[in-house]
Amino acid sequence: MLNKYALVLTSIKGIGVKTFSYLIPESLKEIIQIGQPVLVPFGRMGLINAFVVGFSNYLPENIKAKNISKILDTTPIFDIDYLKFLEWVADYYFCSIQNVIECAVPMKFLNTEKKELSQKFIEFVSFENATKRQKEILELLQNKGKTDLIEFEKEAKTTRTTINKLAQSKCLKITEEQIYRNPLNIFKTQELQDFPELLPEQQEAYSQIEKRLGTHSRILLHGVTSSGKTEVYFKAIKKVLESGKNVLFLAPEIALASVLTKRLAKRFGTDITAIWHSSISDGEKFDVWQKIKNNEIRILAGARSAVFAPLKNIGLIIIDEEHESAYKQTMPSPRYDARTVAQKLAEYNNCPILCGSATPDINSYYYAKNSNNLLEMKKRYNDYPMAKVKIIDMREEHFRANNGIFSRALVNAIENNLKDKKQTIILMNRRGFSTYTQCLACGEVIECPKCAIPLIFHSQTQTLKCHYCEHEETLPEKCPKCGSEALKNCGTGVQKVEIIAQKLFPDARIVRLDSDSMSKKNQHIEILEEFSKGNIDILIGTQMLAKGLDNPNVTLVGVINADNSFNLPDFRSCERGFQLLTQVAGRAGRGDNPGEVYFQTYNPDFFALETAKEQNYKSFYETEIQAREDFDYPPFSKIIRLILSSKNQYRAERCAQEIAMRLNDIVEKRQISEPLAILGPCACIIEKLQEKYRFQILIKNKLEDKGHRFILNFLSQVKLPDDIKLTVDVDPLDIL
Ligand SMILES: [Zn+2]
Ligand SMILES: [Zn+2]
Repeated sequence: MLNKYALVLTSIKGIGVKTFSYLIPESLKEIIQIGQPVLVPFGRMGLINAFVVGFSNYLPENIKAKNISKILDTTPIFDIDYLKFLEWVADYYFCSIQNVIECAVPMKFLNTEKKELSQKFIEFVSFENATKRQKEILELLQNKGKTDLIEFEKEAKTTRTTINKLAQSKCLKITEEQIYRNPLNIFKTQELQDFPELLPEQQEAYSQIEKRLGTHSRILLHGVTSSGKTEVYFKAIKKVLESGKNVLFLAPEIALASVLTKRLAKRFGTDITAIWHSSISDGEKFDVWQKIKNNEIRILAGARSAVFAPLKNIGLIIIDEEHESAYKQTMPSPRYDARTVAQKLAEYNNCPILCGSATPDINSYYYAKNSNNLLEMKKRYNDYPMAKVKIIDMREEHFRANNGIFSRALVNAIENNLKDKKQTIILMNRRGFSTYTQCLACGEVIECPKCAIPLIFHSQTQTLKCHYCEHEETLPEKCPKCGSEALKNCGTGVQKVEIIAQKLFPDARIVRLDSDSMSKKNQHIEILEEFSKGNIDILIGTQMLAKGLDNPNVTLVGVINADNSFNLPDFRSCERGFQLLTQVAGRAGRGDNPGEVYFQTYNPDFFALETAKEQNYKSFYETEIQAREDFDYPPFSKIIRLILSSKNQYRAERCAQEIAMRLNDIVEKRQISEPLAILGPCACIIEKLQEKYRFQILIKNKLEDKGHRFILNFLSQVKLPDDIKLTVDVDPLDIL
């Protein structure tokens, strides 16, 4: 029997993404399918766009359904398997399927009124090489003046492919920003690059991967920095493509995905390669989506959201720099982790997932080791030695009357490096000028009025900024509490390091790299490019420095305060600190010149610092995994974090207590309070955020799926008053 009603998904301004039921007219009953775009009547808005997501024969009594007006395209945009996959994500992360669809499917695909982008980025260059149709388009463009791609596509009734062709034939110029987001906009492979012969270690890793193709294994390629992991990936990709299957390749952020896409295109061709991330335009997404459906795209590279692209027949999923926290989306919901979702995707496709890192996530290493899927590469490419790391005990510096933030040894090393015309990287992993502003008369520390954390002074703007919300205010002249003028900016941030470095090395070309130094979105790409051209002597920055910098002229790395990464009140802080120090140390000595690294510290015997000095992951892992086991932290449990927040502190706390009590009752009755431990409630470390008080309950689940479902079932029955918000974070990356 044919279905009477169709469930359609819409995205309406002010209402959000929601599903509604509509009657299927007789004429459409034979052709209607899941995933088709349709037009439906919606109140005073008239006809609106929607997707078919389900069918039924019954409706609740009080609902009267209207007819579907039209099927816009009989070819579905997605299929039932894809919906099931998104449903799994919604279940696992405890959010609605609508929420996941909104994040996964570019809902603006079909909106008749596309939002116009503000930036105009096409420049008109010449008509010479254009065909007749292209000339028409160019004329139209010229008449309209410079315009943006989306508007242009609509106006000229053209496609992204035509625009790309125009750009490639140099009739159009597309801005840096656009190229940065999608290098394939102007890049066309003429001749494919050759594959180099793999070194023995690479070859061994590759053959282990080859053995696992066609199985659902989770492989970890642990290779020291600069060991040549990419060539191993590329050979595996080649093998998978030859077998007729496709490859999904994830990188932790857009900039890295962009560089990667270009490398892939050079090796495998622009026609079969595509990029996917949150910043490519809907027009580009639409193009890629269509090509994926026609199986024209064989390699899809992208940042975390690419895990939702509808790529089919996947033979391999690669996750590079798999330890990066950017794979997890914390805000907004769905709070998914692309690594976990990719694992599910690999399961559906019965293909392996290949994770790579020099400093793997503790969990990944644990699982790989215990499932015999751990591959190691211990040598740097071309046998370049690892950089020598020296630990500088800053207590001794103070004892010898040096109270500066640069030790004498580091200053000497920088001076020598400048003389040798080599480049230096200085890491100070704290934004801003100082770390807090205090009144020396009464002791008051100036806090954000919306969040219970200190405001941080920024020297360029002469303002105090909150690093957790948007709040910004001018630095007051007097203490807001006692009126004294003795306000002091205490502690050290990266801006202070920059100013001091300029005084110490007045002739050096010094540039700062952090999220505050960027006025444009892609400015860090420009800075990194200037640095790689040798136009910067000393690059000072936050953790942004530690990623992907591959510059053979860098021979010195200095870490100003190696301790501050370890001091966060979070069970992952040792892991994060170790990763950051090892990664940044790996930036030195990537060419013929040996590298030198200095860690300045007040705690030189700390195990994570010592193992980072030796760049000995295994030794770090062994100590860390023991601590995790002792305290039942992942991988020995899985954590679900509940946050109850409200403007009313008392109500938020009471609500949290009640939920914790009910949960405790049930687990005790079922005698599972040991494997399903309910901790809290307690105030979050960031007690107040954006005017809301926050209380958390941590659940340590050692019952795997069973425990997960138990908690989610419980939560689905929780009813909360309107003024209290419950946030569920499954496998949270921090517990601040
Ligand atoms: Zn005061
Ligand atoms: Zn704030």
